[in-house]
Amino acid sequence: MTESTPARPTDTAVRRTGPGRSEPGRSEAGRQVRPATEGWSQKKDAEGRPMLQFASPKRGKPPVHLADLTPEQRVEKVKELGMPGFRAKQIEKHYFRHFTSDAAEMTDLPAAGRDELIAGLLPPLLTEVRRLETDRGDTIKFLWKLHDGALVESVLMRYTGRITLCVSSQAGCGMNCPFCATGQAGLTRNMSAAEIVEQVVRANRLIADGGLGDPRKVGHEGERVTNIVFMGMGEPLANYARVMQAVRTMVDKDHGIGMSARGITVSTVGLVPAIQKLTKEDIPVTFALSLHAPDDQLRDELIPVNSRWKVDEALDAARAYFDTTGRRVSIEYALIKDMNDHAWRADLLAEKLNARGKGWVHVNPIPLNPTPGSIWTSSEPDVQNEFVRRLNEAGIPTTLRDTRGKEIDGACGQLVATEDDQRAADTVPTA
Ligand code: SAH
Repeated sequence: MTESTPARPTDTAVRRTGPGRSEPGRSEAGRQVRPATEGWSQKKDAEGRPMLQFASPKRGKPPVHLADLTPEQRVEKVKELGMPGFRAKQIEKHYFRHFTSDAAEMTDLPAAGRDELIAGLLPPLLTEVRRLETDRGDTIKFLWKLHDGALVESVLMRYTGRITLCVSSQAGCGMNCPFCATGQAGLTRNMSAAEIVEQVVRANRLIADGGLGDPRKVGHEGERVTNIVFMGMGEPLANYARVMQAVRTMVDKDHGIGMSARGITVSTVGLVPAIQKLTKEDIPVTFALSLHAPDDQLRDELIPVNSRWKVDEALDAARAYFDTTGRRVSIEYALIKDMNDHAWRADLLAEKLNARGKGWVHVNPIPLNPTPGSIWTSSEPDVQNEFVRRLNEAGIPTTLRDTRGKEIDGACGQLVATEDDQRAADTVPTA
């Protein structure tokens, strides 16, 4: 869309939601586009409500794996497989600390029965279909095939002083957000806890082998993923129990990967009851809310789950998360040209956040990443800057997120299995 910006909104309804900020003639009111005016039609269910898929379609379950089990269950499973329980601890060490599932490398286990034991506890879960690199090897996108042929992606990013892995929690997504490629493709199924954890283990293996960044550089020794963001495919809180089992395994120092909880970010469209449940867990992960609009009128269309839980309810739940955990929450806001990037919306967002207190939140605007067939574009740089400036001026710490991986369709909202991915996957035998 390249039309020049008229001085007043074309949508009178929007003006009602920003009282005092967008009177006719105010220059910041700007042009208003909405998903429907851009040709997107929201899929509706039989009752006429926006289509949301919460239940995972029934498919064959992935094999049970060490990382699906609690430490006690692992001991039981080892005994079932005919070995003494203490062997569980050895297998945990191989898998979570040395990132291997290969029985041949586990020479501290008795040779007799070793293959059967490992086949029973560490069945293959992710088959690598392909790997795309950008940023001189500092960003890598993996395409994985699951046991039933479902495809998921993860993106590994080296930054100065940290290594972040963006993981998927579902194959596809049922939340139907119009600007997100994953959301448009629908939900294939929930991932198991072990399928989630295995993405981290495989990334750690690649790092240990010197595969992230220039292999000639020294300093890979002992390096591993330091930060995890649940911002790949899927809505993590719609797969709550498995995501939490995965998180527990990631943070477990004795029986898991041993990461710090604050390095793990759970991002959600705003499933309020699940946010409340997360608040009561004793794991202070970083919490991120994908808000994208401060007014229900627009958010109803941008984030269809807003038909269930409104902006104010989602913000109240986010604030309660801060109160209980002491962890500052993030608000994600994809800036979409003429859709949600108006100055009055920055002001309204600041007002709603400030109304809930100081120091509990920061805002992370993300310039919209292009998705296949989408007519929406990211905001102009001066509009982005103005949006950020207004929030900061109102006392809300706000930093534009640098998104990585656009060149390899690996950035936020771009993860979707394409026909080309499917063809590539068809040539790879499933493990
Ligand atoms: N379902 C979760 C996590 C996955 S998406 C959630 O919605 O929070 C991770 C982030 O990328 C979310 O904030 C999402 O809104 C954002 N996103 C989706 N599509 C995008 C796009 N095309 N450009 C930029 N960000 C996008």
